[in-house]
Amino acid sequence: MGRSANHAVVIGASIAGMCAARVLSDFFDRVTVYERDELPSAPAQRSAVPQGRHLHLLLARGAQELETLFPGLLDDMVAAGVPVLRNRPDCIHFGAAGHVLGTTGRLHEEFTAYVPSRPHLEWQIRRRTAALPNVTVTPAGVAEPAFDAVSERVTGVRLDSGEEVRADLVVDAAGRGTRLPVWLQQWGFDRPPEDTVEVGIGYATQHLRIPDGLITERVVVAGASAQQPRGLGLLCYEDGSWVLTTFGVARTEPPQDFAAMCALADEIVPSHIAAAIRRGEPIGDVAFHKFPVSRWRRYHKMARFPAGILPFGDAVASFNPTFGQGMTMTSIQAGRLRRALRSPDADLAADFNSAVAKSTYPVWTMNAIGDLVLHQAPGPAPWWYRPVGGLFDQFLGAAETDPVLAEWFLRRFSLLDSLYLVPPMRLVGRTIAHNARLWLTERSGKATSPQRGRDPVPGRSDQRRAPRP
Ligand SMILES: Cc1cc2nc3c(=O)[nH]c(=O)nc-3n(C[C@H](O)[C@H](O)[C@H](O)COP(=O)(O)OP(=O)(O)OC[C@H]3O[C@@H](n4cnc5c(N)ncnc54)[C@H](O)[C@@H]3O)c2cc1C
Repeated sequence: MGRSANHAVVIGASIAGMCAARVLSDFFDRVTVYERDELPSAPAQRSAVPQGRHLHLLLARGAQELETLFPGLLDDMVAAGVPVLRNRPDCIHFGAAGHVLGTTGRLHEEFTAYVPSRPHLEWQIRRRTAALPNVTVTPAGVAEPAFDAVSERVTGVRLDSGEEVRADLVVDAAGRGTRLPVWLQQWGFDRPPEDTVEVGIGYATQHLRIPDGLITERVVVAGASAQQPRGLGLLCYEDGSWVLTTFGVARTEPPQDFAAMCALADEIVPSHIAAAIRRGEPIGDVAFHKFPVSRWRRYHKMARFPAGILPFGDAVASFNPTFGQGMTMTSIQAGRLRRALRSPDADLAADFNSAVAKSTYPVWTMNAIGDLVLHQAPGPAPWWYRPVGGLFDQFLGAAETDPVLAEWFLRRFSLLDSLYLVPPMRLVGRTIAHNARLWLTERSGKATSPQRGRDPVPGRSDQRRAPRP
């Protein structure tokens, strides 16, 4: 342990707050997590986390990171019925930017994905965090941090009740509605510069019971594309229920009721999945959510930043939710926090904020290219986004029928191996050769790959026949 200090406070007991508290518990004598919302004792939706009702995909990297933080978590989830996909690409239907990955072949490298519902995952990590001997999760709202202008440091927090609590470190895990930029201004600092992308996303979600045996897929993703501004995700959860989230990007309205959701499914997913959705029995009403803007608060660019406080989780970066990265990026930040706390002499905030920026940059940039170039979100884009987006479209086109490219994409999308979604030259060459072969074949009229046509629903059976190289 690098730092000897005695009390850390975390604002917010959601995914980020729990990950932060878990790390802090190894460095501080006491950790207190304050949560304004009522915390259920069993998995349940929370009013302060409205996104919990909508599809929440835990990427494979996120599962690994959370297991590192909370050993035994994954086994517990599986024991509780959470679907697990161990090298089962046939359980994944994955469409990105109008291309359906050829994920039906055998994968070369181990790929394990877990599909917990958001309330279940949050409850699992909350009960583990709360069980740590030096962590207390307290039901109280934080009105604001206490700031000492002389030492330019945060010295604790003031609760909604008026009570003052001293702390050596405060972690702001209050989510994307954090008030830290406002507090910084009140204390005489600048607000952090922000990068934003107007993704204009609208979600509509229906929970369902689908009769057993209709589909083998447990994860269905049909992302938006330049031609189709609506997309869909379907996941099977631990209690056997399904969550169907449909969405529109670039201010396209999502479907407004279950019938319209089924109609969209008919258009953008293979017919056996669309038919299974139609056979589904709705549980509760359709829930809606708007996510107008992705936002990255670039604290690492601030010339002056107070000591004693760190922004964490969505409070730093809230990513386009349709890419399913938020919880995983939060778990990666936890690793950065551990590393920063281990360096006793460093400027903790500078260290941590710049480490978070390094892991945010590649993911943020690739999302922005997808949003601005492939999903037609409005806003200025650097000149190189368009050619990179075009190359990526070529890559995804080849990944429809080349399982090596498909596996590479599936792993990188899951943030495994690297956070950079940049194919090595070897795979760029393979893409060009593959597409050239397909083009020549189509031109000579010998065969037409259904995936390469504009049919938004490439035939799943044809993918199953995709040859392995
Ligand atoms: C529609 C949608 C879909 C998403 N889908 C996915 C997905 O598929 N996969 C994925 O990985 N991520 C997804 N995300 C992102 C994911 O939800 C977040 O990244 C994740 O919850 C981490 O957020 P957080 O803990 O920082 O903040 P939040 O989950 O927003 O939690 C903040 C917490 O802080 C509490 N709080 C706030 N202020 C105070 C205060 N002053 N005092 C005390 N408590 C306070 C709140 O009550 C809340 O509990 C999605 C997000 C949205 C909006």
